[in-house]
Amino acid sequence: MSEDTIFSKIIRKEIPANIVYEDDLCLGFRDITPQAPTHILVIPKKPIPKLAEAGTEDKELLGHMLLTVKSIAEQEGLGNGYRVVINTDEDGGQTVFHLHMHLLGGRYLRWPPG
Ligand code: AMP
Repeated sequence: MSEDTIFSKIIRKEIPANIVYEDDLCLGFRDITPQAPTHILVIPKKPIPKLAEAGTEDKELLGHMLLTVKSIAEQEGLGNGYRVVINTDEDGGQTVFHLHMHLLGGRYLRWPPG
């Protein structure tokens, strides 16, 4: 069973967030500590703690999240490009254990990340 996280509280609207997109399956909101002019998190409403724990049953959900990121990027005017990141577990630098995709854009993003 997954633990309750700050993101579950955002889904339940128990704490505020700057929500830019919502449907039955996922939620998009602005990161509280933006690392780029546009920094949005897309999370599933299903409490999957991390990508490593997603299963084949989550295939459609993961595809839906990725296409949601794409449409939010269009909505945000990121026509010059953007980056989608999933930090996974300790070495991946994950700090909130509710699966999320970072959408970063609005500036040139160097590669590789640190
Ligand atoms: P990660 O390090 O990949 O687990 O990303 C977690 C992200 O959640 C970080 O970029 C945080 O800035 C962001 N974050 C944490 N708490 C909140 C919050 N209450 N509202 C919006 N973003 C948050």
